[in-house]
Amino acid sequence: MERREPRPSGPQAGECPHAGVAGKQHVSAAISGHPRLLTWRIGDVTVTRIVELEVTGGSRFILPDATRDAVLPIGWLRPHFADEDGRLRMNIQALVVETPTRRIVVDTCLGNDKQGRRIPAWNDLHGPFLADLAAAGYARETIDTVLCTHLHVDHVGWNTMLVGGRWVPTFPRARYLMGRVEYAHWRAVFADSVQPVFDAGLVDLVETDHRIDEEICLIPTLGHTPGHVSVQIRSRGQVALITGDFVHHPCQIARPEWGSTADSDPAAARKTREHMLAGLADTPVLVIGTHFATPTAGRIVRDGSAYRLDV
Ligand SMILES: [Zn+2]
Repeated sequence: MERREPRPSGPQAGECPHAGVAGKQHVSAAISGHPRLLTWRIGDVTVTRIVELEVTGGSRFILPDATRDAVLPIGWLRPHFADEDGRLRMNIQALVVETPTRRIVVDTCLGNDKQGRRIPAWNDLHGPFLADLAAAGYARETIDTVLCTHLHVDHVGWNTMLVGGRWVPTFPRARYLMGRVEYAHWRAVFADSVQPVFDAGLVDLVETDHRIDEEICLIPTLGHTPGHVSVQIRSRGQVALITGDFVHHPCQIARPEWGSTADSDPAAARKTREHMLAGLADTPVLVIGTHFATPTAGRIVRDGSAYRLDV
C-alpha cells in the first residue's frame, strides 16, 4: 500500500509569524478507509495515531473522582472527551513518530492474545492493530525504535506477538527503549511483553531524560510510575509533547487534583500534573494525549483557576 504523505498543512518554519506553533491537523476524515487515523506535523517530524481501542464509560476504576456529576459541569469536555451523560471517552492508541532519521513507536497498547490482565476486556484481543499500522505506511519491520513511556500493560502489549505459541518481538529490527528505573521497578512482571524482547537482545535501558535524536527527547514526568516519561518533539521551532500517562484524561486538565488509581505515587503524580500544566499553559506546544479520545491533541490554556484543552 502506498505510503500516505503527511499533509503539509499548518505553519511551516520561515513562513509563520508564530514560530513554535505546530500544525493543527485533524485529518482523519480525509484519509479514506482509515477514519481513525490522525497525523500531526511538527516541523520535519510527523506523528501518526494508531488506535487500538476507543471506549466510552467504565473509566471510574481509574479516575474515581470523575463521577458523571463531577464531569458534567466541565462543559468543554463534550462532545470529544465525554458524552452527554458525563461518561468519559478514552482511547488506547500508539503514536508513530517519524523524524528525518528515526521511525519510533511510542507505546504499544495492549496487544493481541494477552491473558491474565486485571481488566477483562483487555484479555485475548484479536484486533487489527498491525494491519492498521501497515496501512498507515508503517509495516512492523520498518520500525527502528520502540519507546515505552512506562511499563503498564496498556503501553507494552505489542512489544510482542504470539507466533507458534511463543512470544516474539513484534518489531524485530527495532531497539526497544525502556526506562532503567521502570525496568528495575517492574522486572518481576510481563513475562509475555517485556522479557521476550530482553531475551532477543533488543532492549536499551535509558534514563528519564534520554535523547533519541536531534528532534526527540524524553522528559521525566514521574509519579504515575517511578520512571515515567513523556516525549518531547522539537523541530523547526515547533514543539509537541506526547503525554504518556501523567494525565490520563482531559478532565484532569480541568481538575489537576484528580488522581488516577494507577498512580504509583499519588502526591508526586499530582505535583507533576500541576507542574507540567502550568508550564504548558498558554504556550503553542501541541499536547498529544496518549489516552485522549479524538481529536487527541490540543493546547493547554488557562481557564479560571485551572486549565482546558483547546482543540
Ligand atoms: Zn495507560
